[in-house]
Amino acid sequence: MAAVSAGRAGARVALAEKNELPGRKYLYAAMGRGALTNRNLTLDSFHGRQARFVADALAAFPADDLRRWFADHGEPLEDWPHYGLVVPRGGPESALAALASALGDAAFLGDHRAVAVARNSDSFAVTFDGGHVITARRLVLAAGAPNLPQLGGETTGLALARSLGHDLAPPRPMHMALTPADPWLAELAGLWMDVRLGLWRDGTELAAAQGSLLFTRGYLTGEAVFNLGQQQDSFAGATLQVDFFPELDSGDVAEWLHRTLGGRTQVPAQQALDDMLPPALARCLLARQRVKPGARSRQVELRQRQGLVEDMTALRLTLAGSLGLGAAEACGGGVKLSAVNPRTMESRLVPGLYIAGQMLDLCADWGGALQHASLATGLLAGRHAGGV
Ligand SMILES: Cc1cc2nc3c(=O)[nH]c(=O)nc-3n(C[C@H](O)[C@H](O)[C@H](O)COP(=O)(O)OP(=O)(O)OC[C@H]3O[C@@H](n4cnc5c(N)ncnc54)[C@H](O)[C@@H]3O)c2cc1C
Repeated sequence: MAAVSAGRAGARVALAEKNELPGRKYLYAAMGRGALTNRNLTLDSFHGRQARFVADALAAFPADDLRRWFADHGEPLEDWPHYGLVVPRGGPESALAALASALGDAAFLGDHRAVAVARNSDSFAVTFDGGHVITARRLVLAAGAPNLPQLGGETTGLALARSLGHDLAPPRPMHMALTPADPWLAELAGLWMDVRLGLWRDGTELAAAQGSLLFTRGYLTGEAVFNLGQQQDSFAGATLQVDFFPELDSGDVAEWLHRTLGGRTQVPAQQALDDMLPPALARCLLARQRVKPGARSRQVELRQRQGLVEDMTALRLTLAGSLGLGAAEACGGGVKLSAVNPRTMESRLVPGLYIAGQMLDLCADWGGALQHASLATGLLAGRHAGGV
């Protein structure tokens, strides 16, 4: 998008990409749907002390303009039914095709991995693997974040920014799966539910999020998990509190349980709970209350019923940690925002240098916010870098 808008602004543009084709990571974004924004996106979707940094970029390229841009380039976006995702109708490849077709006269240089950059009096000299050097009056760095090295994430882009004088916030995983310490959760592998999660340590709730939770063998993932962890440094030893009925209070759940068990006193408790919970979860929660397998509803004691309500509304799990940066879908840290002009994306330290996308130290909710911010900061950077 930076290359496209620099070309539109009148510049001669070369887009250098280390892979044969650009956008490899994007193809996997948002469960492979390639969300480009989110229906619920607001400035509140961005977090951290500098959340307002993206305000100018989002104002320059709001969601309606983004939708129109892709529609005008023959690849309309559509609302996906879940999570507010706004996705390319033809899949992420079609969004990449739209961007590629909009490159116009820009030179695309695939298999060009930038390894060094030097600032000369009125130009930049970028050196690529193999020694090829390109000079340019203005330079946009948009090399993404170093997470998921298996998909091509690497630190070189950040190292280039640092070599030009930019301070970096250390990379930290964002939107990552969490690993529970409780082995019994393996029995829930494959279960998916909408929940409210709270992250607790030393009696204080550090963060909360609502949305999907997916149990897998060995880790917890899903929208709520991703949105819980963007700003946490460590999860080891923290408590994850799960409310399986986020729309109800515990009194309502107690009443529902009372009616559920009371209405079917002769059937096994697990069967009676089918109305309230998926069978695997009902089985585990009954076992946690030491209700004997096959016990009938009427045999569930008051104390066990109270325990069930507590587990249904505030199940406390101990976390062993997270899958970390190598597996995180996105990555915080990067070029510190204080040294970048949010209205133009130009470096405040190096005139003529522009920085866009996930190289910047942005922190946002899962589900299209980072992608939108990357496109919008790219558009601004290109527009100003390309202005002749
Ligand atoms: C599995 C997964 C799920 C995700 N889910 C979401 C989501 O739900 N919502 C959301 O908003 N975002 C999501 N993201 C993040 C989203 O993909 C990124 O925010 C977005 O791609 C960032 O765009 P970018 O252009 O800044 O960086 P990238 O898309 O990473 O593009 C950077 C490009 O620079 C190239 N490059 C890197 N170093 C060099 C170099 N030295 N020389 C030349 N080229 C180089 C890379 O090959 C790459 O093509 C997800 C990402 C992944 C991988």
